Amino acid sequence: MEVSDAIVALSTPPGRSGIGLIRLSGARSLELVRNLLKDSDFSPEPRRATLKALRDPRDGQVLDQSLVTYFKAPFSFTGEDVVEISCHGSPPLLLGVVDALLFYGARTALPGEFTMRALSNGRLNLAQAEAVRDMIEAQTHAAVRQAARQLGGELSSRLQPLKDSLIEIIVPLESSLEFVEDDLPEDITRDVALKLSRLAARAQELADTFDHGRLLKEGLRVTLVGRPNVGKSSLFNKLLLSERAIVTDIPGTTRDTLNEVINIQNVPVLITDTAGVRASADAIEQLGIERTRRAVVDADLVLVVIDGSQPLTEEDRQVLDEAANNRLVIALNKSDLESFRSDSPLQKANGVKVVPVSAKTGTGLDSLRAAIMEPFSSGDFHESSFVITSARHYDLLRRTADSINSAGHSLSKRSSEEIILADLYNALRFLGEITGETTPEDVLTEIFSTFCIGK
Ligand code: GDP
Repeated sequence: MEVSDAIVALSTPPGRSGIGLIRLSGARSLELVRNLLKDSDFSPEPRRATLKALRDPRDGQVLDQSLVTYFKAPFSFTGEDVVEISCHGSPPLLLGVVDALLFYGARTALPGEFTMRALSNGRLNLAQAEAVRDMIEAQTHAAVRQAARQLGGELSSRLQPLKDSLIEIIVPLESSLEFVEDDLPEDITRDVALKLSRLAARAQELADTFDHGRLLKEGLRVTLVGRPNVGKSSLFNKLLLSERAIVTDIPGTTRDTLNEVINIQNVPVLITDTAGVRASADAIEQLGIERTRRAVVDADLVLVVIDGSQPLTEEDRQVLDEAANNRLVIALNKSDLESFRSDSPLQKANGVKVVPVSAKTGTGLDSLRAAIMEPFSSGDFHESSFVITSARHYDLLRRTADSINSAGHSLSKRSSEEIILADLYNALRFLGEITGETTPEDVLTEIFSTFCIGK
């Protein structure tokens, strides 16, 4: 990746919109924009938007009136000269402007390349760069808030005291290595061992917040199953009406009428309704059954819907059997009907939560939502808690805790300082990998490949 290039990308989504934003970064940005404006004297005041005519490189005709804003290095997102061009959000226009800039010598930005430049110019650290991506991909308000905190540097500022404490332990160990022939005195060893175990616990505690962070970020998959007419679709619609998420899809899933994301306790929950799949025409029924089976296997939780106003049928039992290998909750539907029996034999099904509901009146929906979340909530989560939301951070924090514990173990065995120090340096390196100081190049490349173009 050549860092001196001027890079260009459309930063707003492709497609028609009120405004489209094109961003340029690199030392030559302003020069390229002067070409685009056919105005060689254009010297805008930094950070002030100017209304300018963009011109077609071939015939000089006006393409659009646009707002041009120049950010002079180093006071820009990337730390380089940046120019942002806001024009009308017309796909052929935006394409034309990007093409013109390419013609004048810019290069198309790679995914995440703007953020990568910001990282290499010290405008943000790696955890903050990842937060930029998480912010864009956030599915719920809660995920946005966590990303904003990480973007603000909260993860780094929580890691800093850990790094400081490690260094406080490393320094005297290093000097005892140089100056003392004998073992460390007993009381010092005890003190260091105590500090190490506290430090490992702090790293582990932060790692453990991933239980909830993962839910906030990745959400849950819940599959609705049940024989025809028990009320799956009605329940699906009722859940959607009350809790439809602001967001649309979870990556890797097709969004059709059978999949919707709802928001339960700030967690994006992808609900798949298998209704209609079985009832479909013979030729495609097999396909439908296969799809249902897959939806059941892939689910984090299966919601089995049973018509509680009728005796349990053989078909109900089959559905229950099919779902038995997964985590499941039973919704005993149609509780509004006279014939509903809440003392259904299912109530005694061992360990399985049975929730009486009515998709018609909405009764019991709160309990149902709580029952869906129950297996996944760690219980002590508050919205104000800071959580880590990245598997990469989780892994590095766990390795940090392991290394510190291993150092403590070596200390208690009275191993040599070198062995203890090696573990402590590893722990420091793992913490540094989170914020980017010690992250290997291939890991960086992998991280940025998950960004979208234009960010
Ligand atoms: P699906 O085949 O499992 O998707 O079932 P539907 O959602 O299509 O519902 C089948 C029938 O049951 C429809 O006539 C619904 O109006 C009715 N139904 C669904 N849920 C309830 C409920 O909670 N109470 C009552 N009384 N009727 C319901």
